Amino acid sequence: MSEEKTLKISKIEDGIVIDHINPGSAMEVLSVLKINGKSGFTVSLLMNVRTSKGNSKDVVKIEKKNLRKKELDLISMVSPNATINIVENFVIKEKFNVSLPETVHDIIRCQNQNCVTNAKEPVKTVFTMEKKGDKLLYRCHYCERTMTMDEIRNSITK
Ligand SMILES: [Zn+2]
Repeated sequence: MSEEKTLKISKIEDGIVIDHINPGSAMEVLSVLKINGKSGFTVSLLMNVRTSKGNSKDVVKIEKKNLRKKELDLISMVSPNATINIVENFVIKEKFNVSLPETVHDIIRCQNQNCVTNAKEPVKTVFTMEKKGDKLLYRCHYCERTMTMDEIRNSITK
């Protein structure tokens, strides 16, 4: 392969391309997917790429990776506008937007220290989406504490 070709970010043969990630959030996406340098995946990462519309976005390509429902939910909470492209044999087989789940199981940690989900033998968390004006919140099923999207992002990317 020519050097010119290898210097560009190449197409992937099999795997996923997570596109339209909020600019600067690519690392958070990798973090919620628990992908780091030691996980063995071949990862390409583009940050603050200019789109044709003049906006910026991040793009992450992960070879030989499938996404489970829980991972899609996590990505939606970091970057609700992300799109997922599933690539097989260099061809995009499927393309869809992530969507914020109405109900989330075992992903968000409740901020209320006295919540039963933070007890010594914790119960798995369940949160339900609520709209408050144009804001989205998630409410804990057990203690009714609400969390903003910023709080959730902070708690899942830690
Ligand atoms: Zn709670």
